[in-house]
Amino acid sequence: MKAFTYERAADARTAVKAASANGAKYISGGTNLLDLMKLEIEHPTHLVDISRLPLKHIERTPNDGLRIEAQVSNSDLAADLHVRSHYPVLSEALVAGASGQLRNKASVGGNLLQRTRCPYFYYDGPQGCNKREPGSGCSAIDGFNRSHAILGASEACIATNPSDMAVALAALDAEIELFGRDQTRVISILDFYKVPGDTPHIETVLEPGEMITAVLLPPPPPGRQRYRKVRDRASYAFALVSVAVVVATERDTISSARVAFGGIATKPWRSLTAERALTGKPATMETYRLAADQALAGAVGRGHNDFKIELAKRTLCDTLARALEAE
Ligand code: SF4
Repeated sequence: MKAFTYERAADARTAVKAASANGAKYISGGTNLLDLMKLEIEHPTHLVDISRLPLKHIERTPNDGLRIEAQVSNSDLAADLHVRSHYPVLSEALVAGASGQLRNKASVGGNLLQRTRCPYFYYDGPQGCNKREPGSGCSAIDGFNRSHAILGASEACIATNPSDMAVALAALDAEIELFGRDQTRVISILDFYKVPGDTPHIETVLEPGEMITAVLLPPPPPGRQRYRKVRDRASYAFALVSVAVVVATERDTISSARVAFGGIATKPWRSLTAERALTGKPATMETYRLAADQALAGAVGRGHNDFKIELAKRTLCDTLARALEAE
């Protein structure tokens, strides 16, 4: 690990100023960043510790939504009674992620900013990785790409976003509150992440020094919510495919639907195509399958990950069926 300096931020304004300097980086739970520093994939020269900032509250908002501050731990958020009863898809996604110990340390803000688990990104060897070293090529495209993206990829990068929580937040229409040098701004989670294009090393719209201060949820949507994660082993593994659905019916007709995928795309992937194909249609397996086919119509497999196209379709169908079977 390369040498770095460290400071514990006393307040958000000081933190932003310190983190705006060249080579500086925020640290909170450190569950991803410290691994990357040990492997010398990330090498900040200065760490700004924001884990003790007073950003650990979960509060109801005047419009009956929820404001979740960025330093709330993943465990505390998953266990929150209001979240469990009104936003169960979020609680289910959090519990599906990582291990108990990691969820205790990991913060909401850190979860949103965790880096991909593409093995080439973590291997600082002769094989190129545009995300780790821009311009060095993508070893996954013609290499071992079983875990990689089938949606939102480019010829420069096909890495998936690993967050479970962000998939549920995409289905819930969450917004991210950011605090920077000049202002606080709020942005939809759908606009927070960038697809890789030619610059896969730029993953979000964060400006230098800008920090996540909260996640904002609108009032709980009508209908049933469900998160389904398919992975190689039952726990402590990243998704091959995950699906978050929020779906409501009236007399066996789907009156509203929200669908987001994880594990198959370069960012949490909200599928408006699937939602349009579901809304107003009978709640039957035939409808689900049609929606799944349309949602994955633009998917591109790269060999080892071809199976994800059919797996994602089946996972969506199954998740919708299970969500609605209790209606
Ligand atoms: Fe690097 Fe992205 Fe290619 Fe993986 S998929 S090797 S992260 S450029």
